[in-house]
Amino acid sequence: MSEVYENTTVVIIGAGVAGLTLGNFLLRSGIDCIIVERRDREYVEQRQRAGVIDTRAVRMFREWGIEDRVLGGDPVAPVLNFRIDGETRPLEFVSDDQNDGRFCPQQVLVRNLIDVFISDGGDLRFEAEVSLENVAGDAHPRVRYRDSADATKVLSCEFVAGCDGDRGVSRAAIPSASLTRYSHEYGYAWLTVLAEVPANHQSMMALHPRGFAGQFARGPHASRFYLQCPLDTSTSQWTDERIWEELEIRFGEPVANTGRIVSTQLVPLRSVVYSPMSYGRLYLLGDAAHIVPPMSAKGMHLAMYDAEVFAKAVIHYQTGDSSLLDSYSATCLRHVWNYQAFAAWWTELVHNAGDDSYQGEFRRQTARADLERLFESGEANRLFGGFITGLN
Ligand SMILES: Cc1cc2nc3c(=O)[nH]c(=O)nc-3n(C[C@H](O)[C@H](O)[C@H](O)COP(=O)(O)OP(=O)(O)OC[C@H]3O[C@@H](n4cnc5c(N)ncnc54)[C@H](O)[C@@H]3O)c2cc1C
Repeated sequence: MSEVYENTTVVIIGAGVAGLTLGNFLLRSGIDCIIVERRDREYVEQRQRAGVIDTRAVRMFREWGIEDRVLGGDPVAPVLNFRIDGETRPLEFVSDDQNDGRFCPQQVLVRNLIDVFISDGGDLRFEAEVSLENVAGDAHPRVRYRDSADATKVLSCEFVAGCDGDRGVSRAAIPSASLTRYSHEYGYAWLTVLAEVPANHQSMMALHPRGFAGQFARGPHASRFYLQCPLDTSTSQWTDERIWEELEIRFGEPVANTGRIVSTQLVPLRSVVYSPMSYGRLYLLGDAAHIVPPMSAKGMHLAMYDAEVFAKAVIHYQTGDSSLLDSYSATCLRHVWNYQAFAAWWTELVHNAGDDSYQGEFRRQTARADLERLFESGEANRLFGGFITGLN
């Protein structure tokens, strides 16, 4: 079996938000890189997840000169409607800073990042199932995969950027004694629902004794819905009819548009941090290094933050100074723990204020009181401001 050897500066494993953002920043800085992705292009471009790009991220793409080419969508509306026991309580955006946040589904961002990377001459290889060699110590790491013509490719590089999500091979290549996992399980899951119907509201969240529900527009013809549910439920238990009924009960209003449900998925809510975020010449970015519960809408933003910190560190390394690479993990972890703190507080507050079967009625009442204070003091508006700017 033939083996083809190639050299580059950075091999990026995974063409998600972290890998593609990093690839574009390196390419624009004249640094050689190759992105290898396990899935085919169509799959990657259609994977639906997040829907909002916060102000920090919009400005980051602006500073790197690609905002207009990678971001689509409308500005984020300055109001998020809460339904609490059937009554609407609007949260309005209040911030000292300008809101530049955009409604731009993650798959649109991913598609645009791929287009820009390839049209600017980037090297992106799909359907590459990789394995890692030599990541410990100072020797140059190697990334090996078999291509569609069944030839084995061996990519030798200075650095590997592990951007392959929570179940990838990068983190698995680090010996467990060299990595600490910190985690918190919330005890419930979200049923995430994608439907081909326009949303009643651009965004709405409901707190209800049967559990949390959320709805978010995903363009003019599609909506994303979330339903809190027990961990031991299965998607087969949730027929389309049951989903629409449950949404109406929790929102306390008719769902004006019911239609085809395209996909459902169960996401257990949890917070996870791996530390340190590097090992030898292997660096972990995005979901490979940390998971935040989707309630906080910050997972994609953490991935983009890591990508920028790592890109700047590699650029700086070209001047002969490795200090930013040496501090990469500490820099990112400071930011990650800050977002984890916000995500854990917000997730527990909103879920405890609804269904009392997890933490009990005492906790439900204190969560309600906390929320009421947030609304009445105007603090909730400032919180929402920080939430969509990403600058808190
Ligand atoms: C239902 C849901 C809703 C969410 N909502 C939000 C939100 O509103 N806001 C927000 O900011 N975040 C949200 N998130 C989180 C966000 O989607 C993730 O944090 C983000 O995708 C992380 O980006 P990433 O690039 O690190 O990983 P991924 O996007 O998972 O990309 C990893 C890539 O690596 C590839 N890969 C995996 N293994 C290998 C391998 N062995 N070799 C090569 N390639 C490999 C994968 O195919 C994938 O393309 C949500 C997540 C979910 C599940």
